[in-house]
Amino acid sequence: MEQGRIVKISGPLVIASGMETANMFDIVSVGEIGLMGEIIEMREGNASIQVYEETTGLKPGEPVISRNRPLSVELGPGLIENIYDGIQRPLTDLLEIAGTNISRGVSAVALNREKKWDFKPVVKEGDTVEAGDILGTVQETLAVDHKIMVPNGISGKVKKIKSGSFTVKDVVAVVTDADGKDHDCTMMQEWPVRIERPYKSKLPPNDPLITGQRVIDTLFPIAKGGTAAVPGPFGSGKTVIQHQLAKWADADIVVYIGCGERGNEMTEVLMEFPELIDPKTGESLMKRTVLIANTSDMPVAAREASVYTGITIAEYFRDMGYSVALMADSTSRWAEALREMSGRLEEMPGEEGYPAYLASRLAQFYERAGKVVCLGQDERVGALSAIGAVSPPGGDISEPVSQATLRIVKVYWGLDAALAHARHFPAINWLNSYSLYQERLDKWFGENIDKDFPKNRLTAMTRLQEEAELNEIVQLVGVDGLSKEDRLKLEICKMIREDFLHQNSYHEIDTYASVNKQNRLLSIVLYFHELGKKALAANVDFNAIAGMELREDIGRFKYTEEEKVDAAYNELKGKLDNAFEKLIKEAGEADD
Ligand code: ADP
Repeated sequence: MEQGRIVKISGPLVIASGMETANMFDIVSVGEIGLMGEIIEMREGNASIQVYEETTGLKPGEPVISRNRPLSVELGPGLIENIYDGIQRPLTDLLEIAGTNISRGVSAVALNREKKWDFKPVVKEGDTVEAGDILGTVQETLAVDHKIMVPNGISGKVKKIKSGSFTVKDVVAVVTDADGKDHDCTMMQEWPVRIERPYKSKLPPNDPLITGQRVIDTLFPIAKGGTAAVPGPFGSGKTVIQHQLAKWADADIVVYIGCGERGNEMTEVLMEFPELIDPKTGESLMKRTVLIANTSDMPVAAREASVYTGITIAEYFRDMGYSVALMADSTSRWAEALREMSGRLEEMPGEEGYPAYLASRLAQFYERAGKVVCLGQDERVGALSAIGAVSPPGGDISEPVSQATLRIVKVYWGLDAALAHARHFPAINWLNSYSLYQERLDKWFGENIDKDFPKNRLTAMTRLQEEAELNEIVQLVGVDGLSKEDRLKLEICKMIREDFLHQNSYHEIDTYASVNKQNRLLSIVLYFHELGKKALAANVDFNAIAGMELREDIGRFKYTEEEKVDAAYNELKGKLDNAFEKLIKEAGEADD
């Protein structure tokens, strides 16, 4: 049984000799106390092991034993509402998170072995099934109907299928394969975290992941199955955005990876999430959430593993045909963990000490996102959207992690310190952010919301870019140097920014806006512009337009309750028509 011996310990890195029979990526038990580690390099019988627990007290000569299997997660009922560390050990006591957590060498199981779940079969004995087919379902929480799938590699005829109350280790079905061999199926599967879970095919991401955040959905939308990055300096609203997304994105399942942030920040997430109410069910948001927590005071190697643990769990729910949103906060801390291990392995450092494979690792992670046709005969579609926060030191995105991320993700929501400072929230800078899904999604918005939606969005973006140019001119010649048409444009831009883009996460109504509401709101601002241009052409005084009282009604429009939006829009539009008609009439009379 005994395999190698420790020869060297360097922080989270342990070198062991006599490991000839072990393999790369094997899980190993390190030392007398049995700390958990993973082989990350093999050199002639010497294994370099990253240890997921504090290594103090280990001594050379202590035993190292390979478990002959890769780092894996347990998948099955019991995942939802759970809070795990980076290697899927349940962190039950929330409050202890910030300090020391599970004592070392304890291998806690991820899924509760005693708890019984109500399994409802959906196949009959004699049915032919293949990997990915749904054998039955478990109502895991009010929000999540957990599909029990035929594990990968198994297909054949259902010999036996049960119904009733079972633990995750009880056999609920037996499948006989073509060779006549019986396979016991339980409600639990295991999957190696570093290997992408299989699917039939990838689909183009053509429908949006609606978030209810105007600057995102209207200007920089993300597709279901898409990838996005939110870089931003401290205090620019990264955390608030991530919470808003976790709360409002129309995903069935949310996987939140708290990666290497300071202990107290993570505690905040852990305390706050259970209190957040899922608008769909009225229940705690945790009823559709899995949290992975690895704070900065937890061992660095477990932080490296945490993103894989998280994305594997997310893929598993995607495979059931769900829309899953995965958030990783922050990928910078994860990259720092990579850097630390790489340094200890004495690898050749790349830019700023990060390993040369930083970019490829990041790409591998984001590539696991996507909209897919799942395994199984029913051709169901699942989507996994991945959103990574990046925390560049000093907010300077020229650093390697931001740059590598930007080359991979399709959506960039650039948070801006200056906007945050001016209390413009969400502080997403409209001049440098982008979404490469926009063209595809325009079709969806045009068909499902309003045929003018794409045109309006483009107009808003054009205005905002013009504003930046006009502001430069104003700096030189002052606002009086502008034509009245340009001055009107500046007023419209102010309305786009303040009445449309600005959205208060803490306001009961404003915190979420349906796409219909977003469309109405933007339309009314642009309509004001159209009327304003006509009025200017009819010699109406600029100040009479800029100072129109109805602008306050436009400003308050975002606080309209969803069910009243359409009526309020029509009413406001009518009032604007009347007010401008009056102005034009008055101007005409003055001319006579
Ligand atoms: P970061 O995580 O980037 O350090 P936070 O997400 O904690 O920053 O945001 C800092 C502060 O900015 C919040 O405490 C809040 O007051 C404010 N803020 C950020 N986004 C919004 C928003 N959408 N609406 C209202 N306030 C916001």
